[in-house]
Amino acid sequence: MKREGVLYVISAPSGAGKTSLCKEIIDIFPNLRHSVSYTTRPPRNGEVHGRDYFFVGKDEFDRMVEAGEFAEWAEVHGNFYGTSLATLKESRTEGIDLILDIDCQGARQLKGRFEGGVYIFVLPPSIEELRRRLDNRSSDSQEVIERRIHNASGEIKEARWYDYIIVNDKFSEALDQLKSVLIAEQCRTTRLLHGLSRVFTI
Ligand code: 5GP
Repeated sequence: MKREGVLYVISAPSGAGKTSLCKEIIDIFPNLRHSVSYTTRPPRNGEVHGRDYFFVGKDEFDRMVEAGEFAEWAEVHGNFYGTSLATLKESRTEGIDLILDIDCQGARQLKGRFEGGVYIFVLPPSIEELRRRLDNRSSDSQEVIERRIHNASGEIKEARWYDYIIVNDKFSEALDQLKSVLIAEQCRTTRLLHGLSRVFTI
């Protein structure tokens, strides 16, 4: 029997660098996939349907909520986002590890609903640096940036209940830390015991 896929849940205020970390880590661990969320937010320049998000209308999103098709969903910065329950279940039974780049509300819902997930919070080195990064990301309007900065202080308070905190000051160091978390989690006794008990008396 294959081992169950591990659920890695990563949250951070926008601009902390979580999306870049998630993209890089996928290339390092061959058994790790990015969970593609559904969203009612319009695509940004360069974003591809089915790769970055499944971009859906509010009616379709509401239908999915009603049908119980989301493992979690939340309203974030005025748009709706959700994770497919089917994808989560499939990956778990197929032994594929999944990385979910989702907000704290969604992470909390998953923590209450599924066992064995690993919760990682990415922090910027400071609020000033967060603002600088958001300003440099020309894709968002000033109004959107202000809303994201305002929301960041609330989100940061949530970091305390996550399993790991990574401060993304130097990207390469943050990536090393994320890598270490994943490697350590793969060696966790509870994940290995079932498979090993067929080889050893353990
Ligand atoms: P963005 O619009 O910048 O791609 O994402 C905005 C926020 O929505 C980020 O904090 C991101 O992690 C979060 N998000 C993306 N997908 C999901 C999801 O499926 N569920 C939840 N709860 N949040 C999500």
